[in-house]
Amino acid sequence: MEARPRLRELQAFKENFLASLDSGTAEVLNKALGGGELTEEEASCLLQARGLELHALILAADWVRRRRVGDIVTYVVNWNINFTNICGTGCRFCAFSRSPRDPEAYLLSPAQVAAKAEEAWRQGATEVCIQGGLHPEVDLGFYEALLRAVKRTVPSIHIHAFSPMEVVYAASKGGLGLEETLRRLKEAGLDSMPGTAAEVLVDEVRRVVCPEKISVGKWVQVVETAHRLGIPTTATIMYGHVESPIHQARHLAVVREVQKKTRGFTEFIPLTFIPWKTALFREGDSKAGATGAEDLRMYAVSRLMLAGWVDNIQVSWVKLGPKLAQVALNAGANDLGGTLMEENISRAAGASSGQCLLPEEMERMIRDLGRIPAQRTTTYQLVTGWRPPS
Ligand code: SF4
Repeated sequence: MEARPRLRELQAFKENFLASLDSGTAEVLNKALGGGELTEEEASCLLQARGLELHALILAADWVRRRRVGDIVTYVVNWNINFTNICGTGCRFCAFSRSPRDPEAYLLSPAQVAAKAEEAWRQGATEVCIQGGLHPEVDLGFYEALLRAVKRTVPSIHIHAFSPMEVVYAASKGGLGLEETLRRLKEAGLDSMPGTAAEVLVDEVRRVVCPEKISVGKWVQVVETAHRLGIPTTATIMYGHVESPIHQARHLAVVREVQKKTRGFTEFIPLTFIPWKTALFREGDSKAGATGAEDLRMYAVSRLMLAGWVDNIQVSWVKLGPKLAQVALNAGANDLGGTLMEENISRAAGASSGQCLLPEEMERMIRDLGRIPAQRTTTYQLVTGWRPPS
């Protein structure tokens, strides 16, 4: 007897909901749902969605996620190894780097990195993610020694290492071209690269947040060269500091254009800015990070803007915290990232999340969304026969 009024209410809700949407937002969402490619201006409009429009954006992104990649949510069992925190580049958003005289400064030898990789492998990791600061004594020979030491110790572990900034550093110290540098790194055991150092791929933003870092053109050149040599990379954005929605949209357009040429990006990872211990925030030049709504807009618009080009959108539980990361999986994302036994960079900047999220906990979060958890390799092959360690 109660069903009829309820159905009528639901119908009224649906009609009101759609009719109340701002017409510009509704038009852009219609275009995205119909498979149309969003322009920077359209993405920028969605990146400002509030209220009902924000709900509609999240629903649309979730719908496109389902259509593109289904209900599986993947994760990778990995370790992060930050082999040195000594760096003089002075990125203003970075709270990880130390001067060589700082009591907390450290540099791990290739043998120490290999020992960590072996421990990672023993604990079920399929990947080690290796990055570090630009240490004055580190050069291409050190990077090669590090890769060889890991491969000698654990031949089957996947080495995901060195940002485009580190590659440029190694090339310039050795007086070599990018292609030759990447070729040598690949020969020494490099399997794939993190597409970090991207921050926001707009030079006017980079001049404020990381003036000494490589330009947009250089970042694009490194990843395109890597892709051409058969080294896949991820792509990232660090958002929530000084940039505006049009800068975020432009960044997504740059990633999409590279992917059209190379097909070398495995996934896109929005990384929310952790402000607390950074010079950029302390000196009053950035806001106090993105709000939760801004995080969800970023994930949803990434899905819509990159649909058909980069279909794996990863949430960063380290940056967002596990609870918001779970919510972001409902806003267009389909990957929960790595279990990350060691993660120093975000904690140095003041992130409160722990050092690792066990596979069992990841699977519980994913199942609670009504989705299907699956362990994957770095390059998105599903791992078969794997069970969480008891
Ligand atoms: S972000 Fe990287 S390159 Fe920049 S200061 Fe920190 S460690 Fe150095």
